[in-house]
Amino acid sequence: MAFAITDKVMSAEKALKDAGDQFGAGAVFTTSFGLEGSVILHLIAQLRAPIRIVTLDTGLFFAQTYATWTQLANTLQLKIESIVPELSLEAQAQTHGPELWRTQPNKCCDIRKVQPLSKILSEADAWITGIRREQTPERADAPLVGHDERFNVVKINPLVDWSEEEVRGYLTTHNIPYNPLFDNGYPSIGCAPCTQKVVIGGDPRSGRWQGFEKRECGLHWEKEPTDGTESPA
Ligand code: SF4
Repeated sequence: MAFAITDKVMSAEKALKDAGDQFGAGAVFTTSFGLEGSVILHLIAQLRAPIRIVTLDTGLFFAQTYATWTQLANTLQLKIESIVPELSLEAQAQTHGPELWRTQPNKCCDIRKVQPLSKILSEADAWITGIRREQTPERADAPLVGHDERFNVVKINPLVDWSEEEVRGYLTTHNIPYNPLFDNGYPSIGCAPCTQKVVIGGDPRSGRWQGFEKRECGLHWEKEPTDGTESPA
């Protein structure tokens, strides 16, 4: 029998409370300010859990995403750390060519997301994420709590069994700020150059990396080349 939303909220609260109790700031929540991020930030604030909160700031977010970051930090009174890549956008362009996301998006994601995450998680015990099973086929079997082999940390996905409707319902009930792009044709939001509007009823992830056979940024699953062998779809 499917869990009611109150059970799911309790389960997410328990997962976050346990993470805070067991690991303190050794538990790291990474967010790019998606709908799920807004929910988890609210839960962390309510629980006053001592979890470290970070965003992997690629330097390429939408203006609305940066505004949502500020709004959430202020409204929920949370410290959200900005983790930036080793290479600035200018240095990346000099080393790998301009607009790397157009030629080698996997390499760009590796430099701007995966390497910074790897550094953060090398100091951490647990990694908290906002992934949900229904988002992509790759996420369909994600557990609530598991072990991430690649980064060698406990991986906690508090909203793993929530539907988008439940996520939105929680945000509305608690009047929590979220990125307005979600109501304007962007069901999945990443960096601005790699996120397009999606037609109504379309695959929510179809607006990401259009023109490439790429569905994930490489944070949760490593499967794409980063050596320049990327080919368009
Ligand atoms: S989503 Fe696009 S711009 Fe952002 S890091 Fe990945 S390839 Fe680069």
